Amino acid sequence: LGKAYSFMVRNRIPGGKMTAAQFLGELDIADELGNGTIRITTRQSIQLHGVVKNNLWDVIHRINAMKLSTQSACGDVTRNVCCCPAPLRHDGLRDQLQQLADEIADHVRPRTGAYHEIWIKDPETGRREQVVGAPDDSEHDPIYGEAYLPRKFKIALALCSDNCIDVYDNDLGLLGVTEGDTLIGFNVLVGGGMGTTPSKKQCFPALAKRLAFVQTQHLRAVITAVIMVQRDLGNRADRSQARLKYTIADMGLPAFKTKVEQYLDQAESICGMPRGTVPRPLPDPHPDDVTGHDDHMGWHEQGDGKWFLGLPIENGRVKDEGDLRLKTALRELFRHHVSNCRLTAQQNLLLCDIAPEQRPTIKSILADHGVVTVEQISNARRFSFACPALPTCGLAVTESERALPGVIDDLEAELNDLGLSAEQFSIRMTGCPNGCARPYNADVGLVGRSMDGKTGEGRYTVFLGGNLRGNQMAAIYKDQVPRSEIAVTLRPVFLRFKQERAAGESFGDFCDRIGVEELSRPCEVAD
Ligand code: SF4
Repeated sequence: LGKAYSFMVRNRIPGGKMTAAQFLGELDIADELGNGTIRITTRQSIQLHGVVKNNLWDVIHRINAMKLSTQSACGDVTRNVCCCPAPLRHDGLRDQLQQLADEIADHVRPRTGAYHEIWIKDPETGRREQVVGAPDDSEHDPIYGEAYLPRKFKIALALCSDNCIDVYDNDLGLLGVTEGDTLIGFNVLVGGGMGTTPSKKQCFPALAKRLAFVQTQHLRAVITAVIMVQRDLGNRADRSQARLKYTIADMGLPAFKTKVEQYLDQAESICGMPRGTVPRPLPDPHPDDVTGHDDHMGWHEQGDGKWFLGLPIENGRVKDEGDLRLKTALRELFRHHVSNCRLTAQQNLLLCDIAPEQRPTIKSILADHGVVTVEQISNARRFSFACPALPTCGLAVTESERALPGVIDDLEAELNDLGLSAEQFSIRMTGCPNGCARPYNADVGLVGRSMDGKTGEGRYTVFLGGNLRGNQMAAIYKDQVPRSEIAVTLRPVFLRFKQERAAGESFGDFCDRIGVEELSRPCEVAD
């Protein structure tokens, strides 16, 4: 017998926009060819786990047949383009942002025909079905060239008032600057990335740096230039140093900016713009920055007479288990009551375009299937999420998705006891330092470090000091904390927060102001 290879298949879903038919199709594939669950990811996509090798072609082929794709959802290429998913149409700003996300996703899609040759062409008829992202079938890819990128490359778009997609965590963050209801352009942020290898001193997680202000009509050329600089100057000798953040750390931001400006001629030509269209030097960033975060949970009027419902999905896992029959409820909703949805970067789901008179039916379907809405969960659970880790991620050293719900139970007890349950702050867990659930700019980041060989209990590094706005790095508070001791380890900090916080200060901002060294000293505050 040969090895039974099992795969994770990740979709590419720009901005997390899906039709009901596509969501139902993903559920069907999971039931027929996967492990019976689907997972909403931290970058607005869907992962299918437990796909055995013999079923891989069918899975990818079927995903493409329903006008989704897996092309460049993984690999050393521009990954899924993230964007605030809320269908809020009052001012048109998010519609513009989401349209731009689609255009950028199409622009940075690899032009190769190889993907379509392997996964889409019918091996018997040779027919290649009509799918999204048809290839150019040219040998030369204008953006990626011969060798693609040294490492993965992530792009995301946000508005200053709502950083729900963590724009600073991306290789290329595009932060929309507005005047009233007009989008006047973007602050271009470069070199963010959460992955790190603690054993290698030169590795680090980083928030992106503010590079320049770019008018919307010049955005594609600047994106193209940034990608091409990374393509040509990124480190191809050492994978641990291959992300854009290291290229910028090596060159310095001013030299990187100059290089991007030098590549603009080529980039303009690729984008079909006359040379010199984009101003050189690139203007300094606009002073506006991130001011808020909205997870879009609960019921919202969209601005067009319809409503959307932000539904919390614990750690993004869509499944039926015990009294929770989330998968069945979503099947019922998408078959008969909801035409489309969006995936959020907190692994939640927005059910969109709901007529006002349908709301009671949708509420009762969810209740009948044991699906909780945001009003029924604590803030600690609402603002938490975890990467999958064990048993599906080969890089995991501890549990994450399966451990976080219990940790949240413990934290809820402490926060209730201290009268802090109304506080809103992010809690994010990963099963290794790669940081897929963005723990390093969370208020509380829990990063898997080791496993107790006898008990199997994970130990975690506890980071404090990020915030929901996503523009502040956390620092190490305690290392190697057993999972069962996380809540009790944090209790003294919660207590100090309660007694010493400034007016309106969030938990992460408090920790950042006081500092982890001071917070680590024996607590003199009465419990
Ligand atoms: Fe990512 Fe590590 Fe979690 Fe795997 S265990 S999903 S690599 S953070």
